[in-house]
Parts: sequence; C-alpha cells; structure tokens
Amino acid sequence: MTLSFDPDSLVLPKGHFIGGRLIEAPGQLPIKRPSDAKAYWDCPIADAGIVDRAVDTAHRTLKESGWATLRPRERTRLMQRWADLIEEEAIPLAKMEAVGSTRPVGHLIAGDIGVTAEQIRFFAEFADKEGSDVVPTDGNSLGMIMTEPYGVVGAITPWNFPLSMAAWKLGPALAAGNAVVLKPSEMTPFSTLYLAELAVRAGLPGGLINIVLGDGATTGSAITGHPGIAKVSFTGSTGAGSAIMANIARSGVKPMTLELGGKSPQLVFADADLDLAAGAIATSLLSNAGQACVAGSRLIVEARVADALAEAIIVRLATVRPGPTWDETTDYPPIISERQIGRIDSIVRATIEGGAECLAGGKRLDREGYFYAPTLISGVTATSPAVLEEIFGPVLTIQTFEDEEEALTLADHPTYALAAGLFTRDLSRAIRLTRRLQAGTVWVNRYGRSRDHILPTGGYKQSGIGKDLGRDAFLANRKSKSVLISL
Ligand code: NAD
Repeated sequence: MTLSFDPDSLVLPKGHFIGGRLIEAPGQLPIKRPSDAKAYWDCPIADAGIVDRAVDTAHRTLKESGWATLRPRERTRLMQRWADLIEEEAIPLAKMEAVGSTRPVGHLIAGDIGVTAEQIRFFAEFADKEGSDVVPTDGNSLGMIMTEPYGVVGAITPWNFPLSMAAWKLGPALAAGNAVVLKPSEMTPFSTLYLAELAVRAGLPGGLINIVLGDGATTGSAITGHPGIAKVSFTGSTGAGSAIMANIARSGVKPMTLELGGKSPQLVFADADLDLAAGAIATSLLSNAGQACVAGSRLIVEARVADALAEAIIVRLATVRPGPTWDETTDYPPIISERQIGRIDSIVRATIEGGAECLAGGKRLDREGYFYAPTLISGVTATSPAVLEEIFGPVLTIQTFEDEEEALTLADHPTYALAAGLFTRDLSRAIRLTRRLQAGTVWVNRYGRSRDHILPTGGYKQSGIGKDLGRDAFLANRKSKSVLISL
C-alpha cells in the first residue's frame, strides 16, 4: 500500500473544536501549502468572544466531569485509549498533518505518529504515580505537601512538529487533572483538531480539550491574557515568548512555561569519530530542513580536522530527496512559507556579502514550493548574521578552534542556550565541557532527541523558562499546597 496521496482529495475542517465538537467558522487568513505554494485553505481567527466560550466550556467540563478528582488511574486508562486510537488512525492523521506542513507523510508514519502516542502514554502513567508527600515535623503535627491541578491551562504551539508539540502540552496538563484551551499554529492546525476529536472518541470528556484557531495577535493574546486561564504553556519563537510575558504582566500574574528559540553549537574535537560526527551533524541539519528548535546550526570544530569534516558533511548533504510532503519517497521537506524562505535567503546573502564563503547550497531549489538547498558556510565570525540569528532552516556555519577554552567561548551564544552537541573520544573532556556548556540539553557523541521522554527539554538564557517532557512537565501542571495539621 502506498502512503502517497492527492492533497486536493482531503476534506479539511474549518472551525474551532469546543465542547467536543467542531464549531464551523469562516476562513479569514489565506494559507499556502509549502510543498507547491498553492493557496488551499483560509484559517478562521477566534476573537475574544470565541476564546471566552472555549475557556467557559473548559471550566464547566472540569466541574461536571470531575476530571481533577477522578481516580487517577481512570485518567490513565482514558488517555491510553486515546493513544491507541492515535495509532489506529495513523494514516488519516498523517495525511492531515502532511498536507500543509513540512512533515513528509513517510516520516510521519515511521516517526511522529508513534512518538505522539508514546508521549501521551508516558504522561498518562504519571497520573497515579506523583502525588502528595507527608513530610517530617514535630510529633504533635502532621505536615503534608499536597499537589493539585491549576484548572484551565492555555497552550500555544508552533508549526514545525505540530503533533508532538500538541502532545507535549496536552499530555502533562490532562494527566495532571487540568482542562486545556490550545491554539495551534495558524499554518498547521488540522492534526491538532484531529487529536482533540480522537480524545472524545476515546472517552475523554468533550470540553476537556478545546482547540481555537487563529493568529498570535488576536487569538494568542486573548488566551494568554484571559483571567480564566490559570497557567500558560507556550512553544515558539523568543520574540513571541517575550510578547506573551508582557501580555501576562499587563493582564495579571500567572505561571508560564516558555519553550523558545535556539542556535545550538556542535563541538567536534580532533579525537572524535569524524564519520559518526559528520553523520549526526548532517542528519540534524536535514531533519525537517533545519526547522527544529534544537537544530545544531553552528559547527565548531578543531582546526586541524575542519576540512575533512566539512567534506564528509557535504557528501551527505548531496543525498537528499526533496519532494512534496504527500509523496512517501520524500525525505527532505520544504520550508514552511514564502516569508520564511525569504528570511533564510536574506540571512545567507548578508553573511556571504560580509565575507563568508558558501561551501554548499546557499540558494532556493529550482522547483515549485518553498525548498532551500542544504547550506554550509565557512569564514564566519561571531557577529555574522548566520551565526547570531536563529535561521530556522537548513543552514550550518563552521567556525574553528585551537583549544577547549576557545571552543567554549565560540559555543557561548549571547541570546540562546537550548542544546549543544559534543563529539570527542576523551571521556574526561566530555564531562568537563558538559559541565561548562550553557545549554538545557547536551548530547555527547550523538545529536538529537531520542524516545526517552523522561529527559526534560528546555533552554537556558532566552531559550526558555521551565521544561517540557519528563517529570518536570507533569509537575509544572500541578501547584503545591503546604498543610500543617495539629494533632
Ligand atoms: P512563532 O513564535 O511565530 O509562533 C508560535 C505560536 O505562537 C503560533 O501558534 C503563533 O500563532 C503564536 N503567537 C505568535 N505571537 C503570539 C503572541 N504575541 N501571543 C500569543 N501567541 C502568539 O513561532 P513559529 O514560527 O510557529 O515556530 C518556530 C519557533 O518555535 C522557533 O523559534 C523555534 O525555535 C521555536 N520552537 C521551540 C521549541 C522548544 O522546545 N524550545 C520547539 C519547537 C519550536
């Protein structure tokens, strides 16, 4: 059976998912498909009134369903059934995701869908395993730390891995006993709507997950500033994260988790397995065409092996198979939008005009849609635009060093500190540098996330506040109450 499909054959939902059903709404924001640049759908924009309705529905559902006080194992059971349905519906779900996003249908079936189901199961298992603690106190008292859900959590997600991003928000919030109002990216909302529908089919109360469509300025702000939203969980750019903090500050005070941008370095020492390093670095650059928050976009390599490593990477970049996301043979996807591919190209141009040398790529691919060639740039400095800015595309810069101190100085970015890679066979050096690297995640002799959802993800510096995944994400969806009872 082929996974390839005709993108015009899908019936795409247009509306918000509130109270367990689709509320149709007129399209307002024209969206183009990245694979062929065809305008194919208009996104509705939820105004403050629709967001009010979603928040009210979430509160009412919490009250009527007793979700927060349900025996926790029952939350686990329902969420596991939901995860099973996600896998059973893998093909329609993959089509909904592939049609307008940058995720190729083959990658979705081989990866994203199973990972999404796993992440839901992972969080479901926390429901009855993390709870209140009895703490030591004097013999005449009983001390306890009780935890309880926030109520209604507001979540906002980006377009780059829509399914996983939704699972990172919905999984821990629901397992911890909350309801959610989620706004997916206006460019990739279909799979999130489908996830919400599957949750209802699995038996979760309709109204526990409410999806509102729209842009950041209208719908996103209405969520973050809403008095009925007790906590905000956001993934997206550092600029939007900063605007969200300001909006929350203007409208009150509430906790927030921010997963923001990155500009992650990959340090390669001369003693490393260069073949392994070249493979991991090229894979990271090509994965989702560099449209990943943790993309290892700055190669920092010991000078004497720089040429050999660059050559080994270039050989790998030449093997990509670009194509539309609805073709199952595609392994190299398009860039999400005309605006984004224009931005990538202008940063590359400005860097080359500033004296850098393009060793590979450096231009759009000559085909329909928004495809950009995998690009390698040398001769950059710490102030080159391609080194400073989060490009969010398939662009890798190379800088060289002579010793560890210089490597660490180059690795340290003024703004971002999300992840870092380190390639060396010297265990002492690996541990020494891991301790000093400014990054929320360090990968040694590998690069990229695994299926170990227990490892939290999140950044230092302006790459974010708080963590997604891991125990941290579950606990971040509950607040604690200290109790002291006189006996
Ligand atoms: P974006 O910031 O433009 O948009 C993200 C989401 O926020 C969208 O749903 C958007 O509509 C909404 N939004 C924008 N402005 C808003 C505002 N003022 N108030 C409320 N909502 C607002 O980001 P994007 O282009 O969709 O995604 C790419 C960015 O996401 C990159 O910077 C990337 O590094 C980051 N990202 C980070 C992680 C992480 O875990 N740290 C994961 C994935 C993506």
